[in-house]
Amino acid sequence: MEIDEQNAPALEAATTFAELGLAPPILRALEEMGYSIPTPIQKQAIPLVVMGRDLMAQAQTGTGKTAAFSLPLLQKMLPHANTSASPARHPVRALVLAPTRELALQVHESVLAYSRHLPLRSTVVFGGVDMRPQEAALKAGVEILVATPGRLLDHAGSRSVQLSQVQFLVLDEADRMLDMGFLPDLKRILDLLPSQRQTLLFSATFDDSIVGLARSFLRNPLKVEVARKNTAAESVEQVVHKVREDDKLEALVRVVKTRDIAQALVFTRTKLAADRLGRRLQRRGVQAAIIHGDKAQVERLSALEGFKQGKVQLLVATDIAARGIDIVELPCVFNYELPYSPEDYVHRIGRTGRAGASGLAVSLVAPEEDRLLAGIERFIKRDLKAVPLPESAPRPRTRADAPGHPGSLAAPRSLTRRRQEPVCALLLPPLRDDAPGHPDPGKDA
Ligand code: AMP
Repeated sequence: MEIDEQNAPALEAATTFAELGLAPPILRALEEMGYSIPTPIQKQAIPLVVMGRDLMAQAQTGTGKTAAFSLPLLQKMLPHANTSASPARHPVRALVLAPTRELALQVHESVLAYSRHLPLRSTVVFGGVDMRPQEAALKAGVEILVATPGRLLDHAGSRSVQLSQVQFLVLDEADRMLDMGFLPDLKRILDLLPSQRQTLLFSATFDDSIVGLARSFLRNPLKVEVARKNTAAESVEQVVHKVREDDKLEALVRVVKTRDIAQALVFTRTKLAADRLGRRLQRRGVQAAIIHGDKAQVERLSALEGFKQGKVQLLVATDIAARGIDIVELPCVFNYELPYSPEDYVHRIGRTGRAGASGLAVSLVAPEEDRLLAGIERFIKRDLKAVPLPESAPRPRTRADAPGHPGSLAAPRSLTRRRQEPVCALLLPPLRDDAPGHPDPGKDA
């Protein structure tokens, strides 16, 4: 059976998590986190996973996919929940594989939050950091293990983890795992798992390679889908400025200022370009940080944390590093360089305008990139008309120029956090000076 127009509405009729049949301790955690209504992918996936079916789910980060697989798996593991100190009573039952360290960390934070009222243990392992603390956590016993493939194989090789009791396997962002060349690692991991298991594959796109992966790893899977692969979110305003390569830095700064952009992800194609742009922004006094695959783990985490706390205004990132970073209500994404693959364009701009919030995606397109732009237009089936850069009209110095105001290109002030949410879900838009109780931002200081 496939989820199609006929049966999807019945599954989506549930309007609360309780109607999806989740147990009270899970419902309590969700309530504390402020989740009241399941997202479309959650409504579709949760009942099917609870039923025990394999799943191919097409959903991007931002749709609530982590809860869509974590919640039903927690539910299914309830009979095994126990408070025993013995590692033997806590074998790995659910294995979640993620392509990047950031995504693995984020998924684990969510799992921890969802399972906070259950005696089920979880941990996360990823490369680039000391293996020993991870070994200790694994040896103590965990029911849920979130891992990047390479580091998991390292642990399996040194026998610090046993995978023979895994009942549930989740392949998160499977398309990205294939893009990153993880297929051989995935095959080796699959060989370590029991063949009797439930497998859930999540991917933003479903091209032939993913279908092939599903064919070899999944059994009679159901397909669920929440967004078509080449549709850019309607709520994202897509703006193109034609700019010479040499003028892009000025153009970026000008758009940020004139549009009062509090924080943005700025995409480059390569690590080298990300480093170069980040450094040039920093030299201009902009609070910029850089995130890409060659950065040490501590640097990547501190850049992300700075961004989430609002200390970093522009986070310069490559596609792979930015994948899976969960950022709530990010107002703007810049394509400082257009990606080679149109699908990456859709992923990039999908980082903004989530859950109905309006977002802005600004592409700075040099003449050499016209062909890439044409490819993107064909892919999203939409013309992206270039418009002139906004005028940077000189204006009197106002409160808006003060550090901390959105668009100031100086450090935004610290952000308030929503209680009870996992840390990774905490990038809120900075408080605006025009919020109730604040002075009129238009008045001169
Ligand atoms: P994900 O797509 O799993 O990365 O989730 C995106 C963001 O949505 C995360 O910050 C989650 O905490 C949040 N989220 C997931 N499901 C819900 C829900 N049903 N209600 C409110 N927030 C949610």
